[in-house]
Amino acid sequence: MAVYLDNSATTKPCREAVDAVNYMMTENYGNPSSLHSAGIEAAKSLISAREAVARVLGCEKDEIYFTSGATEANNLALFGACAAKRRAGNRIVTTAVEHESVIAAADELEKQGFEVIRLAPDKHGNISVSDFAGAVNDKTILVSAMYINNEIGSVLPVDKIRRIIEMKKAPALFHTDCVQALGKIKFSPKKLGADLVSVTAHKIHGPKGAGALYIKKGVRILPRTFGGEQEKRMRPGTEASPLIAGFGAAAAALPDIQAQGAAVKGLNSYLRELLGKIDGVEFNSDENASPYILNVYIPTFMRSQTIVQELSSKYEVYVSNGSACAKGKKSHVLAAMRLSDEVADKSIRISFSRYNTRHDCEVCAAAIKDITEKHPR
Ligand code: PLP
Repeated sequence: MAVYLDNSATTKPCREAVDAVNYMMTENYGNPSSLHSAGIEAAKSLISAREAVARVLGCEKDEIYFTSGATEANNLALFGACAAKRRAGNRIVTTAVEHESVIAAADELEKQGFEVIRLAPDKHGNISVSDFAGAVNDKTILVSAMYINNEIGSVLPVDKIRRIIEMKKAPALFHTDCVQALGKIKFSPKKLGADLVSVTAHKIHGPKGAGALYIKKGVRILPRTFGGEQEKRMRPGTEASPLIAGFGAAAAALPDIQAQGAAVKGLNSYLRELLGKIDGVEFNSDENASPYILNVYIPTFMRSQTIVQELSSKYEVYVSNGSACAKGKKSHVLAAMRLSDEVADKSIRISFSRYNTRHDCEVCAAAIKDITEKHPR
Protein backbone atom coordinates (compact mmCIF):
# COMPACT_ATOMS: atom_id res chain seq x y z
CA MET A 1 0.00 0.00 0.00
CA ALA A 2 1.22 3.48 -0.81
CA VAL A 3 2.68 5.58 1.98
CA TYR A 4 1.39 9.15 1.83
CA LEU A 5 3.79 11.57 3.50
CA ASP A 6 2.96 14.73 1.56
CA ASN A 7 0.40 16.21 3.91
CA SER A 8 1.67 19.77 3.61
CA ALA A 9 0.73 19.63 -0.06
CA THR A 10 -2.70 18.23 0.68
CA THR A 11 -4.37 15.78 3.02
CA LYS A 12 -6.68 12.84 2.50
CA PRO A 13 -10.27 14.06 3.00
CA CYS A 14 -11.83 12.70 6.17
CA ARG A 15 -15.06 10.70 6.06
CA GLU A 16 -17.03 13.59 7.59
CA ALA A 17 -15.88 15.98 4.82
CA VAL A 18 -16.64 13.49 2.05
CA ASP A 19 -20.13 12.87 3.46
CA ALA A 20 -20.82 16.61 3.73
CA VAL A 21 -19.70 17.29 0.13
CA ASN A 22 -21.75 14.34 -1.09
CA TYR A 23 -24.85 15.49 0.79
CA MET A 24 -24.58 19.01 -0.68
CA MET A 25 -24.04 17.64 -4.19
CA THR A 26 -26.87 15.13 -4.14
CA GLU A 27 -29.50 16.49 -1.77
CA ASN A 28 -28.86 20.02 -0.57
CA TYR A 29 -27.94 21.53 -3.92
CA GLY A 30 -29.93 24.77 -3.81
CA ASN A 31 -28.30 28.13 -4.35
CA PRO A 32 -27.79 29.58 -0.86
CA SER A 33 -29.07 32.93 -2.14
CA SER A 34 -32.38 31.51 -3.44
CA LEU A 35 -35.48 32.41 -1.49
CA HIS A 36 -37.21 29.03 -1.72
CA SER A 37 -36.78 26.14 0.71
CA ALA A 38 -33.93 24.54 -1.27
CA GLY A 39 -32.01 27.80 -1.06
CA ILE A 40 -32.79 28.25 2.61
CA GLU A 41 -31.56 24.71 3.39
CA ALA A 42 -28.30 25.34 1.50
CA ALA A 43 -27.88 28.65 3.34
CA LYS A 44 -28.32 26.80 6.63
CA SER A 45 -25.47 24.48 5.72
CA LEU A 46 -23.28 27.50 4.96
CA ILE A 47 -24.08 28.92 8.38
CA SER A 48 -23.11 25.63 10.05
CA ALA A 49 -19.82 25.56 8.13
CA ARG A 50 -19.10 29.16 9.06
CA GLU A 51 -19.77 28.37 12.69
CA ALA A 52 -17.51 25.32 12.59
CA VAL A 53 -14.58 27.23 11.05
CA ALA A 54 -15.14 30.13 13.44
CA ARG A 55 -15.14 27.73 16.40
CA VAL A 56 -11.73 26.36 15.41
CA LEU A 57 -10.38 29.89 15.03
CA GLY A 58 -12.03 31.10 18.23
CA CYS A 59 -13.68 34.00 16.40
CA GLU A 60 -17.16 35.14 15.47
CA LYS A 61 -18.84 33.57 12.48
CA ASP A 62 -19.28 36.88 10.67
CA GLU A 63 -15.52 37.38 10.76
CA ILE A 64 -15.14 34.41 8.35
CA TYR A 65 -15.19 35.14 4.60
CA PHE A 66 -15.16 32.01 2.46
CA THR A 67 -12.85 31.94 -0.57
CA SER A 68 -11.64 29.31 -3.03
CA GLY A 69 -8.64 28.58 -0.84
CA ALA A 70 -5.68 30.26 0.82
CA THR A 71 -4.14 31.52 -2.41
CA GLU A 72 -7.21 33.66 -2.94
CA ALA A 73 -7.42 34.56 0.76
CA ASN A 74 -3.78 35.71 0.72
CA ASN A 75 -4.33 37.78 -2.42
CA LEU A 76 -7.47 39.34 -0.97
CA ALA A 77 -5.62 40.14 2.25
CA LEU A 78 -2.60 41.76 0.61
CA PHE A 79 -4.30 43.68 -2.21
CA GLY A 80 -7.37 44.48 -0.11
CA ALA A 81 -5.30 45.81 2.79
CA CYS A 82 -2.96 47.88 0.61
CA ALA A 83 -5.88 49.39 -1.32
CA ALA A 84 -7.59 50.36 1.93
CA LYS A 85 -4.44 51.77 3.56
CA ARG A 86 -2.87 53.39 0.52
CA ARG A 87 -3.00 56.91 1.96
CA ALA A 88 -1.57 55.92 5.36
CA GLY A 89 1.87 54.84 4.11
CA ASN A 90 3.78 52.86 1.56
CA ARG A 91 5.72 50.07 3.28
CA ILE A 92 4.84 46.36 3.33
CA VAL A 93 6.88 44.10 5.61
CA THR A 94 6.86 40.42 4.73
CA THR A 95 9.33 37.51 4.63
CA ALA A 96 11.35 35.69 1.99
CA VAL A 97 9.83 32.35 3.03
CA GLU A 98 6.13 33.04 2.43
CA HIS A 99 3.96 30.86 0.23
CA GLU A 100 4.10 31.75 -3.48
CA SER A 101 0.70 33.45 -3.25
CA VAL A 102 2.08 36.04 -0.82
CA ILE A 103 5.44 36.34 -2.55
CA ALA A 104 3.82 36.96 -5.95
CA ALA A 105 1.19 39.34 -4.57
CA ALA A 106 3.93 41.37 -2.82
CA ASP A 107 5.99 41.42 -6.04
CA GLU A 108 2.97 42.80 -7.88
CA LEU A 109 2.34 45.43 -5.19
CA GLU A 110 5.99 46.45 -5.47
CA LYS A 111 5.49 46.98 -9.20
CA GLN A 112 2.55 49.20 -8.31
CA GLY A 113 4.85 51.41 -6.22
CA PHE A 114 4.74 49.98 -2.70
CA GLU A 115 8.01 49.49 -0.86
CA VAL A 116 8.36 45.81 0.05
CA ILE A 117 10.74 44.62 2.78
CA ARG A 118 11.35 40.86 2.63
CA LEU A 119 12.95 39.52 5.80
CA ALA A 120 15.48 36.74 5.26
CA PRO A 121 15.55 33.64 7.48
CA ASP A 122 18.53 32.06 9.23
CA LYS A 123 19.82 28.66 8.16
CA HIS A 124 16.94 26.92 9.96
CA GLY A 125 14.25 29.06 8.31
CA ASN A 126 13.66 31.13 11.46
CA ILE A 127 13.14 34.91 11.46
CA SER A 128 13.77 36.86 14.64
CA VAL A 129 11.46 39.30 16.39
CA SER A 130 14.19 41.95 16.13
CA ASP A 131 14.21 41.59 12.33
CA PHE A 132 10.50 42.44 12.30
CA ALA A 133 11.04 45.27 14.77
CA GLY A 134 13.83 46.69 12.59
CA ALA A 135 11.69 46.64 9.46
CA VAL A 136 8.38 48.05 10.69
CA ASN A 137 8.22 51.86 10.69
CA ASP A 138 5.48 54.46 10.99
CA LYS A 139 4.82 54.23 7.24
CA THR A 140 4.18 50.49 7.31
CA ILE A 141 0.65 49.70 6.18
CA LEU A 142 0.85 45.91 6.15
CA VAL A 143 2.83 43.18 7.87
CA SER A 144 2.28 39.76 6.29
CA ALA A 145 4.05 36.78 7.84
CA MET A 146 3.12 33.12 7.87
CA TYR A 147 2.80 31.21 11.13
CA ILE A 148 4.37 27.88 10.09
CA ASN A 149 6.46 27.62 6.97
CA ASN A 150 5.14 25.01 4.55
CA GLU A 151 8.52 23.74 3.33
CA ILE A 152 10.68 23.63 6.42
CA GLY A 153 8.19 23.79 9.30
CA SER A 154 9.82 26.79 10.98
CA VAL A 155 7.55 28.67 13.35
CA LEU A 156 7.64 32.43 12.88
CA PRO A 157 7.17 34.77 15.87
CA VAL A 158 3.80 36.03 14.66
CA ASP A 159 2.53 36.40 18.22
CA LYS A 160 4.95 39.32 18.68
CA ILE A 161 4.01 41.33 15.58
CA ARG A 162 0.99 43.20 16.96
CA ARG A 163 3.14 44.59 19.78
CA ILE A 164 5.78 45.73 17.28
CA ILE A 165 3.13 47.47 15.15
CA GLU A 166 1.90 49.28 18.24
CA MET A 167 5.38 50.22 19.44
CA LYS A 168 6.29 51.65 16.03
CA LYS A 169 2.97 53.48 15.83
CA ALA A 170 2.50 51.94 12.41
CA PRO A 171 -0.88 52.24 10.68
CA ALA A 172 -0.35 48.63 9.57
CA LEU A 173 -2.80 45.79 9.29
CA PHE A 174 -1.36 42.46 10.34
CA HIS A 175 -1.98 39.47 8.09
CA THR A 176 -0.84 35.93 8.83
CA ASP A 177 -1.06 32.87 6.61
CA CYS A 178 -2.06 30.15 9.06
CA VAL A 179 -2.58 27.37 6.53
CA GLN A 180 -0.01 25.04 8.11
CA ALA A 181 -0.97 26.01 11.65
CA LEU A 182 -4.71 25.35 11.52
CA GLY A 183 -5.54 22.24 13.52
CA LYS A 184 -1.87 21.83 14.48
CA ILE A 185 -1.16 24.68 16.87
CA LYS A 186 -3.63 26.12 19.31
CA PHE A 187 -4.07 29.73 18.22
CA SER A 188 -6.72 32.32 17.61
CA PRO A 189 -6.52 35.49 15.51
CA LYS A 190 -7.54 37.39 18.64
CA LYS A 191 -4.66 36.03 20.74
CA LEU A 192 -2.23 36.67 17.89
CA GLY A 193 -3.59 40.19 17.49
CA ALA A 194 -4.09 39.52 13.78
CA ASP A 195 -6.40 41.55 11.57
CA LEU A 196 -6.39 39.07 8.70
CA VAL A 197 -5.81 35.30 8.77
CA SER A 198 -5.78 32.90 5.80
CA VAL A 199 -6.73 29.23 6.09
CA THR A 200 -7.67 26.45 3.69
CA ALA A 201 -9.73 23.27 3.89
CA HIS A 202 -7.55 20.79 2.08
CA LYS A 203 -4.72 20.88 4.62
CA ILE A 204 -7.09 19.77 7.40
CA HIS A 205 -8.62 16.78 5.59
CA GLY A 206 -11.27 18.87 3.84
CA PRO A 207 -11.85 19.31 0.10
CA LYS A 208 -9.67 21.36 -2.26
CA GLY A 209 -11.20 24.62 -3.43
CA ALA A 210 -12.48 26.08 -0.17
CA GLY A 211 -10.68 28.36 2.23
CA ALA A 212 -11.34 31.45 4.25
CA LEU A 213 -10.02 34.84 5.17
CA TYR A 214 -10.68 35.90 8.74
CA ILE A 215 -11.23 39.65 8.81
CA LYS A 216 -11.37 41.11 12.30
CA LYS A 217 -14.59 42.92 13.02
CA GLY A 218 -14.13 46.64 12.34
CA VAL A 219 -11.10 46.15 10.08
CA ARG A 220 -11.64 47.54 6.60
CA ILE A 221 -10.07 46.08 3.48
CA LEU A 222 -11.29 46.57 -0.09
CA PRO A 223 -12.68 43.69 -2.17
CA ARG A 224 -10.88 42.45 -5.27
CA THR A 225 -13.90 41.11 -7.11
CA PHE A 226 -17.30 42.64 -7.68
CA GLY A 227 -20.73 41.44 -8.62
CA GLY A 228 -22.91 40.06 -5.83
CA GLU A 229 -23.99 40.24 -2.22
CA GLN A 230 -22.29 37.00 -1.13
CA GLU A 231 -19.75 37.11 1.69
CA LYS A 232 -20.91 40.65 2.44
CA ARG A 233 -19.63 41.71 -0.98
CA MET A 234 -16.07 40.98 0.08
CA ARG A 235 -16.00 37.86 -2.11
CA PRO A 236 -19.02 37.86 -4.39
CA GLY A 237 -20.11 34.89 -6.50
CA THR A 238 -22.26 31.85 -5.76
CA GLU A 239 -20.71 30.09 -2.81
CA ALA A 240 -19.11 26.68 -3.43
CA SER A 241 -21.55 25.24 -0.91
CA PRO A 242 -20.43 21.57 -1.20
CA LEU A 243 -16.79 22.47 -0.66
CA ILE A 244 -17.56 24.94 2.10
CA ALA A 245 -19.73 22.35 3.85
CA GLY A 246 -16.81 19.91 3.51
CA PHE A 247 -14.53 22.54 5.05
CA GLY A 248 -16.93 22.96 7.97
CA ALA A 249 -17.18 19.19 8.47
CA ALA A 250 -13.39 18.80 8.41
CA ALA A 251 -13.00 21.65 10.90
CA ALA A 252 -15.61 20.11 13.21
CA ALA A 253 -13.86 16.73 12.98
CA LEU A 254 -10.43 18.03 13.99
CA PRO A 255 -9.15 15.97 16.91
CA ASP A 256 -7.59 17.36 20.04
CA ILE A 257 -4.61 19.43 18.90
CA GLN A 258 -2.34 18.40 21.74
CA ALA A 259 -2.97 14.67 21.50
CA GLN A 260 -2.57 14.70 17.72
CA GLY A 261 0.55 16.87 18.00
CA ALA A 262 2.13 14.46 20.48
CA ALA A 263 1.45 11.51 18.18
CA VAL A 264 2.90 13.33 15.17
CA LYS A 265 5.92 14.43 17.19
CA GLY A 266 6.49 10.77 17.98
CA LEU A 267 6.41 9.90 14.28
CA ASN A 268 8.74 12.77 13.41
CA SER A 269 11.27 11.70 16.07
CA TYR A 270 11.04 8.09 14.95
CA LEU A 271 11.67 8.99 11.31
CA ARG A 272 14.55 11.28 12.35
CA GLU A 273 16.02 8.36 14.28
CA LEU A 274 15.69 5.98 11.30
CA LEU A 275 17.01 8.48 8.76
CA GLY A 276 19.80 9.52 11.13
CA LYS A 277 21.27 6.03 10.69
CA ILE A 278 21.80 6.65 6.96
CA ASP A 279 25.24 8.00 6.24
CA GLY A 280 25.26 11.63 5.12
CA VAL A 281 21.58 12.46 5.72
CA GLU A 282 21.12 15.99 7.11
CA PHE A 283 18.02 17.59 8.57
CA ASN A 284 17.18 21.05 7.29
CA SER A 285 14.24 21.40 9.67
CA ASP A 286 15.14 22.63 13.11
CA GLU A 287 14.37 20.51 16.19
CA ASN A 288 11.91 23.27 17.21
CA ALA A 289 10.13 23.24 13.86
CA SER A 290 6.56 22.03 13.54
CA PRO A 291 6.61 18.23 13.93
CA TYR A 292 4.31 17.96 10.92
CA ILE A 293 7.15 18.85 8.51
CA LEU A 294 10.58 17.27 8.12
CA ASN A 295 12.84 18.69 5.42
CA VAL A 296 15.83 16.48 4.82
CA TYR A 297 18.90 16.36 2.59
CA ILE A 298 19.42 12.99 0.87
CA PRO A 299 23.03 12.13 -0.05
CA THR A 300 22.67 10.82 -3.60
CA PHE A 301 23.64 12.00 -7.06
CA MET A 302 19.96 12.46 -7.90
CA ARG A 303 18.29 15.83 -7.58
CA SER A 304 15.25 16.24 -5.39
CA GLN A 305 12.74 16.04 -8.22
CA THR A 306 14.18 12.67 -9.28
CA ILE A 307 14.31 11.46 -5.68
CA VAL A 308 10.61 12.28 -5.33
CA GLN A 309 9.79 10.47 -8.59
CA GLU A 310 11.94 7.47 -7.65
CA LEU A 311 10.32 7.22 -4.21
CA SER A 312 6.94 7.30 -5.89
CA SER A 313 7.51 4.94 -8.82
CA LYS A 314 9.71 2.31 -7.15
CA TYR A 315 8.56 2.40 -3.52
CA GLU A 316 5.10 4.01 -3.56
CA VAL A 317 6.26 6.58 -1.03
CA TYR A 318 4.82 10.03 -1.68
CA VAL A 319 6.77 13.06 -0.51
CA SER A 320 7.67 16.32 -2.22
CA ASN A 321 10.46 18.62 -3.12
CA GLY A 322 9.34 21.89 -1.55
CA SER A 323 5.95 23.38 -2.13
CA ALA A 324 3.51 21.64 -4.48
CA CYS A 325 2.65 25.00 -6.07
CA ALA A 326 6.26 25.48 -7.23
CA LYS A 327 5.94 22.29 -9.34
CA GLY A 328 9.56 21.22 -9.02
CA LYS A 329 11.12 24.68 -9.36
CA LYS A 330 14.05 25.47 -7.08
CA SER A 331 12.83 26.18 -3.56
CA HIS A 332 12.85 29.90 -2.72
CA VAL A 333 12.77 28.92 0.96
CA LEU A 334 15.91 26.78 0.90
CA ALA A 335 17.57 29.45 -1.27
CA ALA A 336 16.66 32.15 1.28
CA MET A 337 18.15 29.96 4.04
CA ARG A 338 21.40 30.07 2.05
CA LEU A 339 21.88 26.32 2.08
CA SER A 340 24.59 25.08 -0.27
CA ASP A 341 23.48 24.17 -3.80
CA GLU A 342 24.23 20.52 -3.01
CA VAL A 343 21.81 20.54 -0.06
CA ALA A 344 19.17 22.76 -1.68
CA ASP A 345 19.15 20.61 -4.83
CA LYS A 346 18.82 17.27 -3.03
CA SER A 347 16.39 17.91 -0.22
CA ILE A 348 12.89 16.60 0.14
CA ARG A 349 9.94 17.48 2.34
CA ILE A 350 8.26 14.74 4.32
CA SER A 351 5.03 15.85 5.95
CA PHE A 352 2.75 14.03 8.36
CA SER A 353 -0.93 13.89 9.24
CA ARG A 354 -3.00 12.12 11.85
CA TYR A 355 -3.37 9.20 9.44
CA ASN A 356 0.34 8.29 9.38
CA THR A 357 1.85 5.40 11.32
CA ARG A 358 5.26 4.18 12.48
CA HIS A 359 5.09 1.65 9.66
CA ASP A 360 4.94 4.57 7.17
CA CYS A 361 8.14 5.93 8.71
CA GLU A 362 9.83 2.54 8.39
CA VAL A 363 8.83 2.13 4.72
CA CYS A 364 9.96 5.68 3.93
CA ALA A 365 13.32 5.33 5.70
CA ALA A 366 14.00 1.95 4.06
CA ALA A 367 13.24 3.41 0.62
CA ILE A 368 15.54 6.40 1.19
CA LYS A 369 18.30 4.09 2.45
CA ASP A 370 17.93 1.97 -0.68
CA ILE A 371 18.17 5.05 -2.91
CA THR A 372 21.34 6.30 -1.20
CA GLU A 373 22.91 2.84 -1.59
CA LYS A 374 21.89 2.33 -5.23
CA HIS A 375 22.58 5.91 -6.33
CA PRO A 376 25.35 7.24 -4.07
CA ARG A 377 26.57 10.82 -4.26
N1 PLP B 1 -0.20 29.13 2.17
C1 PLP B 1 0.49 28.06 2.56
C2 PLP B 1 1.46 28.18 3.69
C3 PLP B 1 0.31 26.83 1.91
O1 PLP B 1 1.02 25.77 2.30
C4 PLP B 1 -0.61 26.75 0.84
C5 PLP B 1 -0.80 25.49 0.10
O2 PLP B 1 0.12 24.94 -0.45
C6 PLP B 1 -1.30 27.91 0.47
C7 PLP B 1 -1.07 29.08 1.15
C8 PLP B 1 -2.27 27.91 -0.68
O3 PLP B 1 -3.47 27.28 -0.33
P1 PLP B 1 -4.53 26.84 -1.44
O4 PLP B 1 -4.00 25.57 -2.03
O5 PLP B 1 -5.80 26.64 -0.67
O6 PLP B 1 -4.65 27.92 -2.42
